[in-house]
Amino acid sequence: MSTKTPFSIEFFPPQTADGAEKLRATRAKLAALKPEFFSVTYGAGGSTQERTFETVFEIQGEGLEAAPHLSCIGASRAQTREILTRYQEAGIRRIVALRGDLPSGVGFAGELRYANELVEFIRTETGDHFQIEVAAYPEYHPQAKSPRDDLLAFKRKVDAGANSAITQYFYNLDAYLHFRDECDALGITIPIVPGIMPIISFSKLARFSDACGAELPRWMRLKFEAFGDDSDSIKAFGLDVVSELCAKLLAEGAPGLHFYSMNQAAPTIALCERLGLVPTA
Ligand code: FAD
Repeated sequence: MSTKTPFSIEFFPPQTADGAEKLRATRAKLAALKPEFFSVTYGAGGSTQERTFETVFEIQGEGLEAAPHLSCIGASRAQTREILTRYQEAGIRRIVALRGDLPSGVGFAGELRYANELVEFIRTETGDHFQIEVAAYPEYHPQAKSPRDDLLAFKRKVDAGANSAITQYFYNLDAYLHFRDECDALGITIPIVPGIMPIISFSKLARFSDACGAELPRWMRLKFEAFGDDSDSIKAFGLDVVSELCAKLLAEGAPGLHFYSMNQAAPTIALCERLGLVPTA
């Protein structure tokens, strides 16, 4: 497989000084793989936002490309404008633009209701300064009225000026291929990069997947459950399943991969090694 396959890696902002130190070590290991960029998630209406800024600027200070996630839910236009200015002045060139999800108890829904409105706002405020990534859902967003509505919502983000998309993670190859074909039929030509979730702990993944609408296929679930507490077998089987999925996606022409690192180096490195994505020189 070509070492030219572009890939990116996602982090969440660490909560503590210890977490920040661990993330620095993780990042140093992952930077050796030469990803295209590191993205950093952002909590809508939450207290972690300042940590996103800190992490983004720290990555940038290390000479690596940092792509902040930015959500619009719960925010005013003025607040969003202020963040865009901050990033623009700091020389950030890429943003992952999202609607986000409001934490329970946060009342103000915000002035921009959906991600397409955020993309439009970014373009109006900052022209072509940012490369804008948006989210895509091969298994459809859990709140979508229908698959067709979700597809049209995705198209609105593209029409508003998104350059590229990153998908929610999935383990059904056919869902991605079908979604890509549907996008083709609608004349959507931007790259749709599969989001890849390494499998480290199956029980955690199962809980998380329920919430975000990603399906864990029955055959996988039964095999993982049969491993019980045998974490070595879970990791080994998880690596087999996910690396095979990535290889098939790339063989099918996926334009790159985006790894949800969960702030750990080893699972992403193991996948990249299996896929031949580790730089040789
Ligand atoms: P949208 O594209 O706005 O879609 C949200 C829902 O609204 C969909 O069901 C869509 O079909 C529907 N919809 C869109 N337009 C309309 C309309 N006009 N009328 C009615 N319905 C409509 N969350 C975070 O909080 N922080 C992060 O950093 C973060 N990073 C992410 C990164 C990736 C790659 C992905 C895939 C998701 C990420 N998320 C993050 C989760 C994301 O915020 C949630 O999935 C959220 O619920 C939807 O965001 P969106 O940008 O896809 O929204």
